[in-house]
Amino acid sequence: MKIIMLGAPGAGKGTQAKRIAEKYSIPHISTGDIFRANIKNGTELGKKAKTFMDQGLLVPDELVVDLVVDRVGQDDAKNGYVLDGFPRTIPQAEALDNALAAINEKVDYAINVDVPDENIINRMSGRRACVSCGGTYHIVYAPTKTEGVCDACGGELVLRDDDKPETVKKRLGVYHEQTQPLIDYYNKKKILVDIDGTQDMSQVFDAIVKVLGE
Ligand code: AMP
Repeated sequence: MKIIMLGAPGAGKGTQAKRIAEKYSIPHISTGDIFRANIKNGTELGKKAKTFMDQGLLVPDELVVDLVVDRVGQDDAKNGYVLDGFPRTIPQAEALDNALAAINEKVDYAINVDVPDENIINRMSGRRACVSCGGTYHIVYAPTKTEGVCDACGGELVLRDDDKPETVKKRLGVYHEQTQPLIDYYNKKKILVDIDGTQDMSQVFDAIVKVLGE
């Protein structure tokens, strides 16, 4: 099962991707997490990516594509995977399709978690991320047991720079311009699944499971 998650930043696709990965025992591959891990470890890739991420811009395609093609070729991805945050541009989608076609494979589902911009801006200001493990929470929708402390590792929770309101508006603009065209791209390939992302998280998940199967 090879799944792509589509949706604006803050639509909840990361949360759903994690639940899908768990239910179907496939890896959750988040390019945002990969970049953040690289930033934390001070790698060259992390340094390059950070300059774009901090401004709410996309990291250039050439820094993303090889990384993902390499990751989906690893052993644990043999039975499928859920890609979260990739592809984000048509060239990235084409590069993935070409890499898969070369090994006689293809994406099975592109799940679009649909949420209007107004809801997104409200949601993102409540998002909190752990500085240690990168886990994400929401002060209203997915609170931690103890305020400001990560449930998973006890790390400190912060509002990520790229979740600040001015950056969120910029990211939404980038999303509409560069990522939204992918909805049409996957619709034409007849693998697009539209899900109403304004419902609560478990209803969104139930709607996804209905499509993917129990
Ligand atoms: P995310 O956690 O998926 O919202 O990603 C955070 C940031 O990482 C984005 O705003 C981009 O700057 C960068 N990023 C993540 N995935 C990609 C991608 N596929 N292409 C370009 N930039 C990306």
